[in-house]
Amino acid sequence: MLKTDQNYNSVIIVGCGPAGIASAIQLKRSNIDFKIICRKFGGIANNANKIENLLGFPDGISGQSFVSTLKQHFEKLSIHVTKDNIQNVRKVIENENDLFHIKCENGEYYSKFLIIATGTAPKKLNIPGEKKLWEKKRLNYEMYNFTYQKNIKTIAIIGSGDAAYDYALNLSKFPVKIDILQRSKEVKCLFLLQKRAQDNSNITIINNIKLQTMTFENHKIKIKTTRRPKKDLQDYDFMIVAVGRSPNINFLSEDLHKTYKKSKKIPNLYIIGDVRNKKYRQISIAMGDGVKCVMEIMEKIRKKS
Ligand SMILES: Cc1cc2nc3c(=O)[nH]c(=O)nc-3n(C[C@H](O)[C@H](O)[C@H](O)COP(=O)(O)OP(=O)(O)OC[C@H]3O[C@@H](n4cnc5c(N)ncnc54)[C@H](O)[C@@H]3O)c2cc1C
Repeated sequence: MLKTDQNYNSVIIVGCGPAGIASAIQLKRSNIDFKIICRKFGGIANNANKIENLLGFPDGISGQSFVSTLKQHFEKLSIHVTKDNIQNVRKVIENENDLFHIKCENGEYYSKFLIIATGTAPKKLNIPGEKKLWEKKRLNYEMYNFTYQKNIKTIAIIGSGDAAYDYALNLSKFPVKIDILQRSKEVKCLFLLQKRAQDNSNITIINNIKLQTMTFENHKIKIKTTRRPKKDLQDYDFMIVAVGRSPNINFLSEDLHKTYKKSKKIPNLYIIGDVRNKKYRQISIAMGDGVKCVMEIMEKIRKKS
């Protein structure tokens, strides 16, 4: 028996965000055997305060409720999710077949086709004090559930894009005061989110902030800036950093990474959703990518048989 026999599927999907989930549903309809592996079901859609641009949800839907509908869809189709953390992907030849070898924390798998839908990872500020705040659990790079943290009253959100404003609006439901600290006057988020934040009495937007260092003294975060802000900054209980995201693709072998960077084309490898879409990071686009790549795989399989 070949070592691939037990752990082999025609298609493996890595990532259970909208892109990977759409691929899995399309594969199920196509009757092609597959496995879907991920760390967190739903991906970053879980973080969204209110999704208002998805067809079929005229009143909008919270990120978490949307992810529950995706879970229900998987349950209905009996799609099983393998929870694991992918560490390395490389090409191997087994019995004269070109395969992908996917090494995860708890197992290894082989496939003929591989769909990578691993989304993005948040960027860091890379300034002194950041790591310490993270270790002390006073800084996060994603949405944070404060329901049980009654001692958190003041929050700084660093950033000026959709995510920063979305986090602020989401957190403003709690009894907290939120400052959005942004580098310049220029707001990069949707007008709708900006307007809602401006109208929200729990949110203050402070411009012209260039962070220099952060310290944690007497249970408070103290921020030093290189420019003097127009308004003096208070000390904070918690900080969320939302200053952009980069593709989650470091697990590709050196060879695959080089080819991907050069031409974006590797036979039988599909890199889809946010991990590929640069600034066009939206659920509908990610889902469309998922359906499209499976249709391409179906066509390839059909032509060979
Ligand atoms: C605050 C916020 C609000 C948003 N609001 C909207 C909105 O209103 N409308 C809209 O269209 N879009 C919105 N988005 C964007 C939307 O959520 C993304 O475009 C979408 O989730 C991208 O889907 P994806 O499947 O490509 O990636 P992701 O959702 O990022 O999913 C990635 C998946 O890969 C898995 N993964 C990553 N690395 C590994 C690994 N090493 N091993 C195993 N698994 C791994 C993750 O666990 C996850 O399952 C919002 C995003 C944020 C952060």
